[in-house]
Amino acid sequence: MMSAMERDLDRLCQQLDDTDALATLLGFTDTDDIEALRARAEALTLRTIGNRVHYRGLIEISNICSQDCCYCGIRRSNAHVARYTLTQPEILDAAQWCAAQGYGSVVLQGGENTSAAAVEFIADTVTRIKALTRNPRQPEGLGITLSLGVQTSDVYRRWFAAGAHRYLLRVETTDPQLFARIHPPEQTLDERIEALQALRDVGYQVGTGVMIGLPGQTLVQLARDVLFFKTFEIDMIGMGPYQPHADTPMADEPTLSAAERLQRALNMIAVTRLVLPTANIASTTALQALSPEGRELGFSYGANITMPNLTPEAARQHYLLYDEKPLYNEDTEPFGDILKRRLAKLGREVGLHEWGDSRRFTDRHRT
Ligand code: SF4
Repeated sequence: MMSAMERDLDRLCQQLDDTDALATLLGFTDTDDIEALRARAEALTLRTIGNRVHYRGLIEISNICSQDCCYCGIRRSNAHVARYTLTQPEILDAAQWCAAQGYGSVVLQGGENTSAAAVEFIADTVTRIKALTRNPRQPEGLGITLSLGVQTSDVYRRWFAAGAHRYLLRVETTDPQLFARIHPPEQTLDERIEALQALRDVGYQVGTGVMIGLPGQTLVQLARDVLFFKTFEIDMIGMGPYQPHADTPMADEPTLSAAERLQRALNMIAVTRLVLPTANIASTTALQALSPEGRELGFSYGANITMPNLTPEAARQHYLLYDEKPLYNEDTEPFGDILKRRLAKLGREVGLHEWGDSRRFTDRHRT
């Protein structure tokens, strides 16, 4: 027989279009409530996605950015950052390593740079990655996700034609007031949403995400973020707890404790899974920054993607979007070691030589 707690959870889970019901789930703090929510999200993940976790090798290609987001350690106004751009051979080496290990995909991530030279550099690099990583087990080469900020539709088309097929552009929050508080006036939420639409129109699998635990952020705002993911037909979600950076204007703003931010981020993964059963959801590095087991926790709450960092060591220390970002890279230990063992303990396995595309995207394009 169902306990009163299970009946309550059942009732809330039948109202997944309702902002207040989602806010209640996101705000769970009681251990039994949290475990029931987690177990439900994990079971749904296994039913809809299966037990495979897919890797995206993350290459942080440049920390040069023309934007000035108030929370970000590599914002253009931060004069304490040593700026770098990886060379093309460095990027290609990392991509080839990835393919040799059986990772199905890479993510090229960097600050926003709209110069013609930067655009061509990316197009050429994407073309070369595709050519270099074709092999009998992955005849189409690595899947390529780009995360390079707001660009024009022509640029999105150029990169898509070169071979990229997923694009991640985080909105960070869908609340207009909160967005305005954490960005300079020239950056707008409307611009990001229009960019997501443009990416969809070009044909990308579209990803976005939000920060969880921003100063002043409410549960209702987070609930609306989840509903936005659904109504905007987002295919991939990459989100994580807000982590302050000392060299930013938001450094001293009060926020939730680290433990509260971690739990809220995990609740957010679980609720997002319940609302978007077939989306790809990443377990992000920011979770690891708050707990050594953060990434594994993310999988047990419904995530199915991880992005091991393959940025060369010398550059990695200069790509600090927030303080306490984990720099040691256990993911590049011989493939199948630490992370694979941890996944096995969760009953999950790594999807080798597969793109691991969003089922939400493929289902939509089948109909
Ligand atoms: S969050 Fe992205 S766009 Fe904003 S300053 Fe940082 S790198 Fe640039």
